[in-house]
Amino acid sequence: MTKHALRMVAGTADVEAGDKGADVWQQIRARLETEVGATTFKRWLAALTYVSFDDRELIVSLPSKFQRDWVETHYRDKMFDLARQIAGRAIIITYTVENALTVLADTPVAFSAAANDAPADMAITAIMPENAASLSAPLDGRFRFDNFVVGKPNELAYAAALRVAEGFQPNLNPLFLYGGVGLGKTHLMQAIAWQIREKTPERKVLYLSAEKFMYQFIRALRSRDTVTFKEQFRNVDVLMIDDVQFICGKDNTQEEFFQTFNVLIEQNKQIILSADKSPTDLEGLQDRLRSRLGWGLCADIHPTTYELRLGILQTKLDNMNTKVNVPTEVMQFLAQKITANVRELEGALNRLVAQAELVGREVSLESAQEQLSDLLRAYGRRVTIDDIQRRVAEHFNLKLTDMVSARRARAVARPRQVAMYLAKTLTTRSLPEIGRKFGGRDHTTVIHAIRTVEKLCREDQILADDVTVLEKALRN
Ligand code: ADP
Ligand code: MG
Repeated sequence: MTKHALRMVAGTADVEAGDKGADVWQQIRARLETEVGATTFKRWLAALTYVSFDDRELIVSLPSKFQRDWVETHYRDKMFDLARQIAGRAIIITYTVENALTVLADTPVAFSAAANDAPADMAITAIMPENAASLSAPLDGRFRFDNFVVGKPNELAYAAALRVAEGFQPNLNPLFLYGGVGLGKTHLMQAIAWQIREKTPERKVLYLSAEKFMYQFIRALRSRDTVTFKEQFRNVDVLMIDDVQFICGKDNTQEEFFQTFNVLIEQNKQIILSADKSPTDLEGLQDRLRSRLGWGLCADIHPTTYELRLGILQTKLDNMNTKVNVPTEVMQFLAQKITANVRELEGALNRLVAQAELVGREVSLESAQEQLSDLLRAYGRRVTIDDIQRRVAEHFNLKLTDMVSARRARAVARPRQVAMYLAKTLTTRSLPEIGRKFGGRDHTTVIHAIRTVEKLCREDQILADDVTVLEKALRN
């Protein structure tokens, strides 16, 4: 067992005196815990162990490949940001895997070492609280067809959802709904489930998240009862799995899902899936699964339009059962300002109504502006990567296409790096997203760009001024 594995088993990253890297790591760890909360931290991040730090690269380890992948997928950007704040510059964080057996030996879990990522998966399950909840997730009473507002951006998805709720649709099998966060995927999926339950209760429906599918699968593996697991999934008429992006990169779970998928399709059972991207754009999906997901209909839920947002606000207000009157100009104001996500839009309306009820005062444009100032400020500051690329190209007298091209000449590459740096500094986009926006580059290229710009800004006053000017222009 290595020294680091030993530390890990002890459960704390005990720090050698005078080790500056370990010090930096302790600060990152502490901030991480405050930011994600104790429960999440304990569940996913407590096992992170410091390995080394050499000023440009921080190496940390996790007990299993599964935990490593999880932490990397979900926390890479957060950790990058924290490390950057604490160390004052961009640091590459590398996640390694320690010998998983050392942790497993501590847990009372029997496992078969045969399946390649399963023992690692099981290590996680062992530390998660068990609950004996039924397979199907509970449905939210508000997510029904009659309070789903239809507009151009979602009409195809809506029409397809209605169809599969009515009965088996071979042409729409599978139905794959995809779109950004908060655009109504879960709402539509659950509306289908509600409708089937009410109109054709003899059709057996199973609705659950891909995350839950994975845990059920792991649990079945652990208790060596995959037969029951398989039966549960193969005995349904309609299988709905929400947020399929979750199983990307999880090979064993994908394999199991693939088999279930095939069995159900062969038996003419309806499958409905959702994800944040189309099958073609999902990364970490096995090719054969990717191609099958495209067999039926892929319906894109587009970002909302002003009209749709206004319609949604009106419907939500009608459903609220409140005496509070929200003037049309306030509704228009909200629909104009809060554009990215329906959940936020709803949240804003809820806040206004709740406060008006509480203090017994009317909602007005002024009170709305005042009460939502924090949210609106965040929106006002929202800079897009497109804005950044345009500004930077203009500033350096380049073509917009130079921002995404493969050209490496310094006159082009340097401004492109500046743009990547600004994208990380001024937007909430993740490193992989930024890479993709810059001509499909890898996230490590983005990290390199950020480091380079930070370094140059300390050495090269002209470049530092360029960056400051651009930052100012983009911020207001
Ligand atoms: P997603 O699953 O795509 O992230 P949700 O389905 O959870 O998004 O939707 C987020 C919130 O926005 C929910 O409260 C949902 O009711 C609401 N919402 C989204 N689109 C619509 C719509 N077209 N009509 C009514 N409500 C909507
Ligand atoms: Mg959802």
